[in-house]
Amino acid sequence: MNWFRIPKETSPRPTKGLYYSDWKEELSFEAKGQCVYCAINNRSFGGVRNFHVEHYKPKSLPAFIALEHDYSNLYYACSICNCFKGNAWPNDPDENFNNNSFPDPSKVDYSEIFFVESDYKLKSDFVAGKYIIQRIFLNRPQLVLERRKNKLTEELKKQFEITRDTLYQFSLKDPSNPLIKVFLNVIETSFLLIEESKINPYNADQIHR
Ligand SMILES: [Zn+2]
Repeated sequence: MNWFRIPKETSPRPTKGLYYSDWKEELSFEAKGQCVYCAINNRSFGGVRNFHVEHYKPKSLPAFIALEHDYSNLYYACSICNCFKGNAWPNDPDENFNNNSFPDPSKVDYSEIFFVESDYKLKSDFVAGKYIIQRIFLNRPQLVLERRKNKLTEELKKQFEITRDTLYQFSLKDPSNPLIKVFLNVIETSFLLIEESKINPYNADQIHR
C-alpha cells in the first residue's frame, strides 16, 4: 500500500466515450488498480465494481461543474474514500500542505505527506495530511489491517529468501537429508501463497460506473 503521483501528463487518454462514467478502466490503469487516497488495491476490496470514478474537484460544487467530464479532474478511488470525501473542498491546496485541503494527486506523491506508524496507523506532519486522514477516515480498521498484512508479508518473504538460500547450501552438503527437502518444500509453497495473494481475481469486463 504505497502511494505514487498519478502521471496525468503522460498517462494514456481514453479514446472512447464522452462521459466520466466511460473512463473507469483507463483511470484504474493509470492508478495501478489502487485507490488514490487510501492506496488499497481493488484486488483486496471487491474489484473494480467497488471502486468509483472520483471527481477531485467535486462536480456538485458550482465552481467545478465544467469539470464533470474533464479527464484531468478524474481519479480512481475506493467507494469508501469516495463517499467520505463527498463534495469536500475546504480550500485550494497550499503548496506547503499548510491548510485543510486535498493536494492534487497528479502533482503530489501522497507518500510525501503521510507516514505509517509502528501501529500501522497513518500519520502526517502536515495540516493537509491530518485533514485528509480525519476527513476520509484513513485509519479505519480495514486499512490498518491491510497495512499490517502487507508489511508482515514483505518481512516474511525476506525471511523465506534467507532461509531458502541457507537450506540450499545445506542440501548441497547433505543431499539425502529428508528434513532439508521438507523445509524447502514448505518454503516454496509459502512463496506460491505470497505470489497468489497478489493475483487480481476480478476481470476488466466488470468495469461499471
Ligand atoms: Zn480508498
